Order: sequence, then C-alpha cells, then structure tokens
Amino acid sequence: MSTVESLATESPRGAPLRHDWTRAEVRALFDLPFPELMSRAQSVHRENFDPAAVQISTLLSIKTGGCAEDCAYCPQSASYDTGVHAEKLMSLDAVLEQARAAREAGASRFCMGAAWRSPKERDLDAVCAMVEGVKALGLESCATLGMLTAAQAQRLKEAGLDYYNHNLDSSPEFYGTIITTRSYEDRLQTLEHIRAAGIAVCCGGIVGMGETREDRVGMIATLASLPAHPESVPINMLVRVAGTPLADARPLDPIEFVRTIAVARITMPRSMVRLSAGREDMSEETQALCFLAGANSIFYGPKLLTTPNPDCDRDQALLHRLGMVAMS
Ligand code: SF4
Repeated sequence: MSTVESLATESPRGAPLRHDWTRAEVRALFDLPFPELMSRAQSVHRENFDPAAVQISTLLSIKTGGCAEDCAYCPQSASYDTGVHAEKLMSLDAVLEQARAAREAGASRFCMGAAWRSPKERDLDAVCAMVEGVKALGLESCATLGMLTAAQAQRLKEAGLDYYNHNLDSSPEFYGTIITTRSYEDRLQTLEHIRAAGIAVCCGGIVGMGETREDRVGMIATLASLPAHPESVPINMLVRVAGTPLADARPLDPIEFVRTIAVARITMPRSMVRLSAGREDMSEETQALCFLAGANSIFYGPKLLTTPNPDCDRDQALLHRLGMVAMS
C-alpha cells in the first residue's frame, strides 16, 4: 500500500474512520461554540498529523480558458466574458520547466489543471507524458482534467498519476444553481472511476457562493460519507471574478470558513485538508486560524490556474512566523 493510500484507510493513530456521518451530526458540529469546535478539531488533527507540518502543492494551468462547462464561479468558462482567453495545451517541455521550478521552491506535489469538460484521447496522451515527466522529477503528480471514463482513469494510473482532483463543489441541493452542464451524479461517477483505478482522490468544494450553512453541512456530509474519504479535501473560498455570475456574491464570514475547515478535519480525520483558493483575499490571522482548525495543506505559487494566490515569499514568511514547516 502506498503512503497516499495508507493515509486515508489504515493510519495506526486515531479512531476508526466513519463513513456514515448524518447531516444532523455534521450540523451539530457546525453549531458548536467556536472554542469547543476548535478544540475538537485540534485534538483530531494532533491524533493523526504533526500539527506544525503543511503539505505544499503547486498548481499549473496547462490548458487555460474556453471551457464548455458553465460553472458560475469560473473565469475559464466560455459562457462568461472574463478576459480569460482560450489557449492551447502547453508543451511538455514548458510544463516540466514549471515543475522543476516548483520543486526548487519546495513543492512536493505538482498539479496540472486543464479547462476541459473531459479530455480527448490525443490530449490524454499528452497529459500522460507530462505525468511521467513530473514523476521522473521526484514530485507527486496530480491532474484535474474534467470528467473521466473508467478507461481514461486507468490510462492515467498507468502513466503514474498519484492524485486526481474532481470537486463536488457544494451540496447536492445547491449544485444545480451553479452548474447546469453536468450533474452531481456525473461528478460522483468520475470519482468512482478514479478510485477504482487506484488513483488517490482530491475532492472538496467551494464556499461563499451564496449557499446556506445547510449547504455547507450537505457538502461536508457528502464528502465524509463517500465509500473512502478523499485523500485530499480542498476547501476553497470563492474568488469573485468580474464577468462571472458570482462576481457580486456576498462575502462569507471568515469565521464560518474556519468552521468549515474544522468540521472537515473532524469528519475526515486522516485526509489532508487543503486551505485552497481564496487565500489572497484572506488575512494572515484567518489563515492561521485555519491551520489551528486542522488545515494542513496549501497551494503555493503566485497563481491558482487564473486567479491570484500569495507569493511564495509571503507564504514562507507566514509559515516561519507560525513556526510551521513544509511536510516532506
Ligand atoms: S471549473 Fe473546470 S469545468 Fe468548470 S468551467 Fe472552470 S475549467 Fe470548466
């Protein structure tokens, strides 16, 4: 069993994993007094991880813009006029140059994102070559390419892919208000294909899209009730981009964001909970609270696909101030 698999299934530490979280239980966690919630999240975090260690991933957009899907938060959708233009798939050499730079900057995982509904066969050939190249550099590899068939997931596994990202985005009830071009069921099916191929799953969602707390409850309850918890759970704060339907969404209270992280940590104790998009607009104090709530992974580098992210220097300074270190 790889390190990745053992994280989410058979860690020797902590209580057995649960996959039967009810909404009432998840709601009750969200409703706890903040100090109690944080205390519980920290206990769970410490049982399973070094609380001072943060896993660092770098995300590169290998094919930007022109996407056929209509995700209401996304500047890369062809449905919205956001100033992001459709580009071709990057060359292998250009991707590997960026992967080398990410490794030099301290990343342990290199994620490649393509704005596709699903990859075409010739595109998959090119991505498989990128995965092989990234692995040869000694980095973990991750890809997010849209929906996959079982056969496509298998091909990526054979190329050496470690992780595949495919988010559920929100609760099943709220999902249809932000995406109409593919269903929640489609997403769950792709997750099944990834899992069946033996690729570790990276799956989380976005908050601050105008959803209710009950939707955040529904999202975490769904993630925590998957047959296996995702090995990585990215929790994103919406980045409001001009031109998208969510450009004027009401900002979410940062404390509610921290609560979402804490409930993810408690319900999915051995997953890496990633403090993902939205850090650029987040105070360093809020980010520190997220780490206290059990977040133990970040994206590193000045850009997250097409939206801004803190510079590496700023992140290094923050981790240094907090006495935290990069997970090897
Ligand atoms: S989130 Fe992904 S699938 Fe949705 S529009 Fe953006 S690039 Fe396309």
